[in-house]
Amino acid sequence: MNQAHPTGDFEGLAALVTGGASGIGAAIATLLRDRGARVAVLDRDPAGAPAGTLAVKADVTSDEAIRSGVAEAVAEFGALHTVVGNAGIGAIGTVEDNADDEWHRVLDVNVLGLVRTARAALPHLRAAAAERPGSVSITHTCSIAATAGLPQRAAYSASKGAVLALTLAMAADHIREGIRVNCVNPGTVDTPWVGRLLGRADDPAAERAALEARQPTGRLVAADEVAAAVAYLASPAAAAVTGTALAVDGGMQGLRLRPA
Ligand code: NAD
Repeated sequence: MNQAHPTGDFEGLAALVTGGASGIGAAIATLLRDRGARVAVLDRDPAGAPAGTLAVKADVTSDEAIRSGVAEAVAEFGALHTVVGNAGIGAIGTVEDNADDEWHRVLDVNVLGLVRTARAALPHLRAAAAERPGSVSITHTCSIAATAGLPQRAAYSASKGAVLALTLAMAADHIREGIRVNCVNPGTVDTPWVGRLLGRADDPAAERAALEARQPTGRLVAADEVAAAVAYLASPAAAAVTGTALAVDGGMQGLRLRPA
């Protein structure tokens, strides 16, 4: 149980987290579970889904798999209130480095994966919104790559820019239905994803130290800290919050620590 957060504010709510079997998604699924939600984890590799969650094998590139995963969650829980579109993949390179198929792969998972998830979930969210006003929401895991120019991340950044715009458009489309739509923009988060990137370096420990030194805080963001932001956006405390991107980046985006 995470003592830093209120418990029980998700009591009676049902949540679904894509990519919830690792890293940020697993931290979100764990926190929502600890705060009282019943949680389904949809993941292409669901082995790491947190204990006490409904683990469903589903790839977000398949409309059919997502529809059937959402249906399984609703059959199990009887309703759906909280959707977290978090599954995502990276791509390294400039526009010259990545061929069209790599762009399609990244956009298919990072953008269309959210579209497919929302399409399958919206009818259930609409039904839930009438009963639990303020408690029905979609939250996307976006990235500071949506708003800052990162080198060697052309396809990934374009995908996350699309996630930000999609979040705003969906917030406008569904506000009158009582469905809030927001995103979090994490900075560099200590997850297996970052571990894999560091693992490619000649000296992973030195690379990690250099990465930490580049953070305004001197450390990476913890997955739990991103989960706390997602839980806030999904909670009834955020009933007036929609169409918002909440940066959880240790000050990376907003701070200029050296004078010009
Ligand atoms: P991770 O690799 O640790 O976890 C990603 C999870 O998504 C895995 O469980 C994986 O199996 C699942 N997944 C990937 N593709 C899938 C697909 N097609 N269908 C279903 N499941 C799929 O990564 P993470 O660091 O926890 O990243 C999660 C999200 O956070 C991503 O959207 C990523 O872009 C975003 N993000 C991460 C960071 C970071 O520094 N780690 C920073 C900003 C944003």
